[in-house]
Amino acid sequence: MKKLVEINNVVKAFGSFQALRGVSLDINEGEVVCIIGPSGSGKSTLLRCINHLETVDGGLIKVADNVIGYRLTGSVLHELPDREIAQQRAQIGMVFQQYNLFPHKTVTENIVEGPIIVRRKDPAESRAKAKELLQQVGLAEKADYYPGQLSGGQQQRVAIARALAMEPRLILFDEPTSALDPELVGEVLQVMRRLAASGMTMIVVTHEISFAREAADRVVFMDGGQIVEEGTADELISNPRNERTREFLSAVR
Ligand code: ADP
Ligand code: MG
Repeated sequence: MKKLVEINNVVKAFGSFQALRGVSLDINEGEVVCIIGPSGSGKSTLLRCINHLETVDGGLIKVADNVIGYRLTGSVLHELPDREIAQQRAQIGMVFQQYNLFPHKTVTENIVEGPIIVRRKDPAESRAKAKELLQQVGLAEKADYYPGQLSGGQQQRVAIARALAMEPRLILFDEPTSALDPELVGEVLQVMRRLAASGMTMIVVTHEISFAREAADRVVFMDGGQIVEEGTADELISNPRNERTREFLSAVR
């Protein structure tokens, strides 16, 4: 199996507070990794570092053998120019708790914006691709709607289609169902399950333990800016070894 993501001893501080205290994690191509852990444990910060929305204060993150944000010459890091950072970012999809769709653009316009502007793809081709992606997320009939005319679950599925339109190597999900009414959670998880089964590499921060159990190849438990325990869903969820993991799981179930 080919390694796609390498997170090596990453440290991230906000002022004197260390949000990440030496996090290391490798992820193979096609792997689905769920990250669970209490609020404030550093889950979002880790995703944001992978996507270079935050710069790290120590350690390295590589995606597809490229150091994120830097060029490594010997052992010296040189910050990349913005254009190259944008290219790295274009390979990494991100789906947030708040869908962040452009409210004044239609569903299709939201999806084709990145491919046309960032990837300089042909507009007609991009719209055709958007149509396919909307079918894939079960929203073919909503192509010309505005986000405000859709439910939260539908908007989140558009956000997933928008991420996929960039043909990413990897998609990061940060609590994608946390803002949704309970009855809308299932339709989003269903789309994510299908995506996982299709071989997409995914890192999913979630409190949906049953999703992690079904879809994750590996589950990681974070607490206090560190990875406390990791394993298969069966190992970590059904038979956690660490006391803090056990406490967390009994609190969320
Ligand atoms: P999680 O996603 O696991 O709930 P976060 O990664 O959002 O946790 O945050 C980890 C810690 O870092 C928290 O204590 C949070 O308050 C702090 N933190 C996150 N972002 C910032 C920031 N931009 N400035 C200061 N502190 C931050
Ligand atoms: Mg978070």
